[in-house]
Amino acid sequence: MPTQATTRARAAQPAPRAVPRPELAHYFETLSSALGPQHWWPARTPFEVIVGAILTQNTAWTNVERAISNLRRARLLTPAALERVPRRRLERLIRSSGYFRQKARKLKEFVRFLRRDFGGSLARMFRTPTAELRERLLAVHGIGPETADSILLYAGGHPVFVVDAYTHRILARHALTPEKSGYEQVRALFETSLPPEPPLYNEFHGLIVHVGKHWCRTHQPRCHECPLQPFLPQSLPHTSVGARP
Ligand code: SF4
Repeated sequence: MPTQATTRARAAQPAPRAVPRPELAHYFETLSSALGPQHWWPARTPFEVIVGAILTQNTAWTNVERAISNLRRARLLTPAALERVPRRRLERLIRSSGYFRQKARKLKEFVRFLRRDFGGSLARMFRTPTAELRERLLAVHGIGPETADSILLYAGGHPVFVVDAYTHRILARHALTPEKSGYEQVRALFETSLPPEPPLYNEFHGLIVHVGKHWCRTHQPRCHECPLQPFLPQSLPHTSVGARP
């Protein structure tokens, strides 16, 4: 059984090579013209993006919104304030986001890392080269690949593609990825198929979230209403994908 350290070390490896899929650019264009700008990530500051990226693990965004507005009201949405606040009080304020004890610890670990390695400066942290910073973020307790990439892209403007459960589901249903593709394989697919442009990655992820929420549900996807329906392979009619992940 791999230790936590070896798992992190593996996750920090560069994304595996992938065969480019030029059709992903057409997916983006189609979604972009059908749905318009998504204004994702919903946050007021880069630090708020980071807090949201940690709090949204295993919970719906509506639960995170309540926790963030509690933190804002308590004037705790700065690295220094979050490091100073007693753990118990922090837990109470973020309770709505679920797993609040673990998440309070993760927030504390992140701000400690930020102070220790970058003097508490997000600007300094984000000046670190992408691959190096990704590796260092992945070594912080509670930061996995999706959280690290959300921080890099949405708070720091680094060109990394954020992969979530919706991304896995849509790509698998469209036969663009093999069954049970891992996070890094899917990230590599996007990053080798699209130019490394943060605004494009930013918007594409937001569009994927929209598709996943509205049409590409776990059960009974609503393909007949979905803008990506023309891309669905003939061999995979929508009636056959209802049981897919
Ligand atoms: S067409 Fe169907 S399978 Fe494809 S993304 Fe839309 S809902 Fe999902």
